[in-house]
Amino acid sequence: MRLPQTNADDARSVDIKALCRLADAFLEKGFTYFDTSYVYHNGKSENAFKEAVAKRHPREAYLIADKLPMFSITEAKQMLPIFNEELNRCGVEYFDYFLLHALGKDTFRISEKIGAFEFIAKKKAEGKIKKMGFSFHDKANVLDEILTRHPEMEFVQLQINYLDWEDSGIESRKCFEVATKHKKPIIVMEPVKGGTLANIPKEAEEIFKAHNPKMSVASWAIRYAASLNNVIMVLSGMSSDAQLADNMNYMLNFEPLSKKEFEIINSVTQIIKTGIAIPCTACRYCVEVCPQKIPIPEIFLQSSPNGGKASDCISCGKCEEHCPQHLPVRKYLEMVCN
Ligand code: SF4
Ligand code: SF4
Repeated sequence: MRLPQTNADDARSVDIKALCRLADAFLEKGFTYFDTSYVYHNGKSENAFKEAVAKRHPREAYLIADKLPMFSITEAKQMLPIFNEELNRCGVEYFDYFLLHALGKDTFRISEKIGAFEFIAKKKAEGKIKKMGFSFHDKANVLDEILTRHPEMEFVQLQINYLDWEDSGIESRKCFEVATKHKKPIIVMEPVKGGTLANIPKEAEEIFKAHNPKMSVASWAIRYAASLNNVIMVLSGMSSDAQLADNMNYMLNFEPLSKKEFEIINSVTQIIKTGIAIPCTACRYCVEVCPQKIPIPEIFLQSSPNGGKASDCISCGKCEEHCPQHLPVRKYLEMVCN
């Protein structure tokens, strides 16, 4: 999702050479899991995986997870062509993990209506999928409903990080508890909250450094997620050699957080919560659906975006329907304009 790019302003410009280097170093240390989707890097992520991994490493050396984009599928007949295109884009015969992408109240209804659960079960029976599950962006009661109605799901992918653990919009803790109740293994996404937990206020950083000067700020966030029971994988979007080296450093001989370290995280959480202006993770789901092509995360981050301006917003609300963080995007854009 956050691959290196040759042009920082163009999500499609994945830097394949840099990605090959990252993938090789990752596999060499014995890590195996790659996560992609139909929409990451504006549709170029799967192909980048093919170039950097599938074409250059034996199939048994890696695991690949891909997803059916339930936020843009409305009819049953769209599923098979997209699934086949995904296999082709990734350059593989089967997916190790396959997910219905971004289930929530609405996408769950659509998935049921068009038979998406049956579709992935059929693909599993054909050997094209090894394990099937879904990624999830909604409240815990919706997760409970899905897992109750679909006990055949083998895992869930949840947004879990220390900042969202008690957040009333994300409900990380409650979702974690629901998945555990249903005995589903958890894959964690957004452990660093789109980079937010790698760039924390100085005061918070100093607390981490005082405990262990050698550990990076991001390492606390990833170790937090990996320390939870029932978590089988923590996905971290690594864009550089330095980030990869740092992650591998503490995940190779992983040590769960101690009680004291959990307490430190609690105090840091309070400091961060008071300092965040707009908690956008730069996932870009909103940009995909915005009719005005407004580069929303770049505007929030106040970088120099290409595309529409904040003032081009026609207040259609599509971005807010698709924002996994449930952000009031229109309100924020108005604030940025003024
Ligand atoms: S409300 Fe504005 S920013 Fe959001 S999708 Fe509509 S035009 Fe784009
Ligand atoms: S506004 Fe929401 S959907 Fe858009 S990039 Fe930020 S977190 Fe993602």
